[in-house]
Amino acid sequence: MIPYKTYVSNKHKCLVRAAQQAYVVALRGGRCEDCGNRHHPAVFDFHSIEGHHSRNVGSLYGGKLSKVLDEVSTCLLLCPTCHRIRHVEERHDTY
Ligand SMILES: [Zn+2]
Repeated sequence: MIPYKTYVSNKHKCLVRAAQQAYVVALRGGRCEDCGNRHHPAVFDFHSIEGHHSRNVGSLYGGKLSKVLDEVSTCLLLCPTCHRIRHVEERHDTY
């Protein structure tokens, strides 16, 4: 059994992560920027439009919100399907 303080601390971190994820997805309109579909906030990916991520957005959740907002400002909000298609198209000019 984990100590209560550890449980509360971990639970708090999970809540902060989920809140930040829902917040940034809502800020970006809550729709995939390619297909326009709405999904649960946990479904979305952030795709870097500058061709690289300085850090994975998912790894930033739970930290400073300013860092999350800074990172997502250079990204597209995409559903997993459109995110995969983007990466395939980046690897191959034609499919
Ligand atoms: Zn999509």
